[in-house]
Amino acid sequence: MKQKPDAIIIGAGLIGCAIAYELSKRGYKTLNIDKLPAAGFGSTSNSCAIVRFHYSTLDGARMAFENYFYWKDWQNYIGPVDDRGYAKFVECGFVIFRNNDPSEQNFINLFQQIGIAYEEWDLETLRQKFPIGDLHTFSPPRPIDDETFWADPTIPLTGGIYNPQGGYVNDPQLATYNLMQAAQNHGGEFLFNAEVVEVRKGNGRVTGITLSDGSQIDAPVVVNAAGPHSFLINRLAGVEEGMKVKTRALRREVHHVASPKKFNFNEQGFVFSDADCGIYFRPETGNNILVGSADPACDPKEWVNNPDVYQTELTDQLWKTQVYRLARRIPELEIPSKPSGIVSMYDVTNDWIPIYDQSDLPGFYLAIGTSGNQFKNAAGVGHLMASLIDAVEQGQNHDEDPVQVQMPYTGVVLNAGFYSRLRAHNTQSSHTVMG
Ligand SMILES: Cc1cc2nc3c(=O)[nH]c(=O)nc-3n(C[C@H](O)[C@H](O)[C@H](O)COP(=O)(O)OP(=O)(O)OC[C@H]3O[C@@H](n4cnc5c(N)ncnc54)[C@H](O)[C@@H]3O)c2cc1C
Repeated sequence: MKQKPDAIIIGAGLIGCAIAYELSKRGYKTLNIDKLPAAGFGSTSNSCAIVRFHYSTLDGARMAFENYFYWKDWQNYIGPVDDRGYAKFVECGFVIFRNNDPSEQNFINLFQQIGIAYEEWDLETLRQKFPIGDLHTFSPPRPIDDETFWADPTIPLTGGIYNPQGGYVNDPQLATYNLMQAAQNHGGEFLFNAEVVEVRKGNGRVTGITLSDGSQIDAPVVVNAAGPHSFLINRLAGVEEGMKVKTRALRREVHHVASPKKFNFNEQGFVFSDADCGIYFRPETGNNILVGSADPACDPKEWVNNPDVYQTELTDQLWKTQVYRLARRIPELEIPSKPSGIVSMYDVTNDWIPIYDQSDLPGFYLAIGTSGNQFKNAAGVGHLMASLIDAVEQGQNHDEDPVQVQMPYTGVVLNAGFYSRLRAHNTQSSHTVMG
């Protein structure tokens, strides 16, 4: 770097790149450091990149809806890019299966309060829109070796909630690369294949970082955007003890299966939230379906103590669990002879709501704990974090007087204190990937 950076961002995933872009637009000289060879090669690369608005909390749903407009405006928001082009937002619509769970009314209340478009579909409409679905309830989700797993269902679902503005982003890594280029266009710099092994301090604040090759880079601001490695960076900075809400890494698998041939999932499919079966699923290129876990209570959690050493092969048990659950919902699904999919990690907080905050070490900031549900929010998070960093560096005591951030598209003012590391455990959260 020609000049000492104003802010070092540890991580060049989607979150780190979004913060770089928003800080560099505000005049900060930013430097992202990542131990991997390119932007978005970490957990972001495996994201399902679903854009949806049904969060359990008002703040969560507002942030998600704000970010819908970033995705709609993506090319304009990002500005010029090279010939790799832009990530694409596929606005195919989002369907929540209904089985009379109390959360459904909460979602509808939040949609009405915020002004998010939705339709309530009766069972007949759901059948017309999704003719390959078995529209009975399978709740509660159960392990595949449970003797009732294949029992004939008898009670129908009660319908669906449809958000026409939901969808997914087709290429999460390209979206990250877009943000990196946007930051570079504003002077942001990036250092790859470089591992941060020390967060240095002096005179009661952060002073910079040290890399594994021994080189030191100084900066008055350092941001932890290290994804599933965030707890390790917090320990390097000595800030974990002071956090009421902490982060840890959780292993995840997402599986790919072909849609039944008679249904064109790419053209006619939606993104589906199917807590009734314990899964979510969405269209994937080539008339495929991508299926992930909705964290049903019966499934054990695979916490990862060392995010550099964990089981990166698909497991037969988990693959069968998710694909068989999908086969209950789509009886004509052909079970493939070989598992296919990805293994990755979430960076999860105690209440599955992220931490976007300062820390007990002045100058050291946290954009962590994205809990498997913040891909959609990255650009808005970049704006929130840049506003927070700016305010705190200018003297605001965010812990006592939380920074209020006006969001550019909906104009809503978000209380950044919602994401505080010092918050009481948020009991409104679903405590799942839904947030
Ligand atoms: C399987 C899966 C499915 C998901 N699906 C969705 C979805 O459908 N919708 C949604 O909204 N969200 C989803 N998410 C969540 C979303 O993708 C994440 O919240 C987001 O990508 C996290 O980005 P990040 O930048 O925080 O982390 P990462 O992309 O992991 O970036 C962190 C970076 O930090 C670097 N790093 C770590 N330690 C160091 C160090 N010591 N020195 C230097 N660099 C370091 C890593 O190399 C990495 O590149 C999903 C996540 C996963 C894993």
